[in-house]
Amino acid sequence: MVHSIVEAVFQHAQEQPERQAILFEDQAISYGQLYADVARFAQALTAWGVQAGDRVALFLENCPTFVVAYLGTHLAGGVVVLVNPQYRQVELSHIMNDAGVRLCVTSTAGAAELQSLTIPDLSALVIVDAADQVPSGGGMEQIAFAAFIQPQPQQAGEEGQLALPAADAPALIGYTSGTTGRSKGALLLHRNLVANIAAVTSAWHWTEHDRLLLTLPLFHAHGLMVGMHGTLFKGSTVVLRRKFDAADCLTILKNDPEITLFFGVPTMYARLLAEAKRQGVPSHLPRLFVSGSAPLSPQLFEDFARTFGQTMLERYGMTETIMNLTNPYEGERRAGTVGGPFPGQEARVVDVRTREQLPAGEIGEIEIRGPHVFAGYWNQPDATAEAFAPDGWFKTGDLGWCSDDGYYTITGRARELIISGGYNVYPREVEDVLEMHPDVAEAAVIGLPDIDLGEQVVAVIVPVRDHTPDPAALIAFCRERLASYKKPRQIIFVSALPRNALGKIQKPLLVERLKSI
Ligand code: ATP
Ligand code: MG
Repeated sequence: MVHSIVEAVFQHAQEQPERQAILFEDQAISYGQLYADVARFAQALTAWGVQAGDRVALFLENCPTFVVAYLGTHLAGGVVVLVNPQYRQVELSHIMNDAGVRLCVTSTAGAAELQSLTIPDLSALVIVDAADQVPSGGGMEQIAFAAFIQPQPQQAGEEGQLALPAADAPALIGYTSGTTGRSKGALLLHRNLVANIAAVTSAWHWTEHDRLLLTLPLFHAHGLMVGMHGTLFKGSTVVLRRKFDAADCLTILKNDPEITLFFGVPTMYARLLAEAKRQGVPSHLPRLFVSGSAPLSPQLFEDFARTFGQTMLERYGMTETIMNLTNPYEGERRAGTVGGPFPGQEARVVDVRTREQLPAGEIGEIEIRGPHVFAGYWNQPDATAEAFAPDGWFKTGDLGWCSDDGYYTITGRARELIISGGYNVYPREVEDVLEMHPDVAEAAVIGLPDIDLGEQVVAVIVPVRDHTPDPAALIAFCRERLASYKKPRQIIFVSALPRNALGKIQKPLLVERLKSI
């Protein structure tokens, strides 16, 4: 068993150096070349002064250099800090200072953004798309990637001398999406990453013969720690794209029958479906479509199955733990559920107040235990202590229930539970009903303060084009399908919901906006 992802890449490079690792635009990178590039970057980092445990940030869009810098940082003993390339000054200052980043790998545009900020520990920017010479500014040394990896004279012939990381060493700080508040840095160890990807690849029958079409961002767990790790762990191939575009995806699927895997978030599947209805479904399809990061509505699950002739596999994970629950590869993939624990991992549902385990069918908070669970929140001992139960279970902050036969259903976030007139209303349940209505494209259900009820159920609706439904009819539609106290009291129509980079609806933002109206 390997102790890190970079060790897996080292092994593949030894055993099958010609095997293709990454296909990106017109580049094809073999495992042999990938490891050589990783070793060069690791040596450059070491020569620059990166020491064990130092933080190196990647503020970068998807590209092969992202992967080289990621694995190279690990090989140099550094800790990778993942930064959403859409972040601007406020988020950047928070993350860079919080993590104490010393060196950042970024683009020319990213460097321009960082230069104006006060980040005392950050002393160098390595710029991937810069020409050889870069003028330095803003107190930060700026070096073109190509110049940075030029071997120093004394280094020649020393390749391969860096030690592979120990299983217990810290590997990365992943910032949570900030869906429920300010994003927190989750510190994951090499052994967390390896344990999880071993479980994921085994559950999904991932082998070296697979080829993944990866359009998810690499700064996030879904793209990096599932898509990229799985590829590198098994020695398979990834077709990496800069970003997701539905038409581009269908074209690639049509032209490359060797693609066997595709991972996406529900918004991507909705767009893929709309595009396939326009231009038709490719004749070869991947053997597995996986959905996660946000709830997949049963409606979309069924529409996709009807159009593509395949059932998606929905799974549930988070930055702190990577993958937790999955529908089975073989056996029933049940709409609206996320299946059960991956091999070697545990899950349970507990009462939010007593923390006692609940029987099947009852809604409570989902807790997780296993070798994949993170080491703690960076710089936040209180949040870390609060996140773990005394017996070591991690409190996910997500609500859900488990069926008699072991399928979990996520009913929403503990923080988004609406208590209206003393009754618990789970927004997800109401959203699923609303999305069954033919005139509703998207729905977000939130609780707004109410003098009488404490909180009032409010539905924010994006209508299907040209078909704005009658609010009273939508309320009646819910009333027919749900207990009366769950029906929305107010319907608000909007043209789009505020979503973050992963397509998650930012409900705190929505609540703020509506409160101010
Ligand atoms: P923050 O913790 O900063 O509020 P976040 O929780 O959205 O942000 P991530 O770690 O990126 O940050 O996302 C994990 C969350 O995504 C889970 O806790 C869960 O709420 C949601 N999620 C992931 N997969 C699914 C799924 N299949 N169904 C429903 N929710 C999901
Ligand atoms: Mg979270």
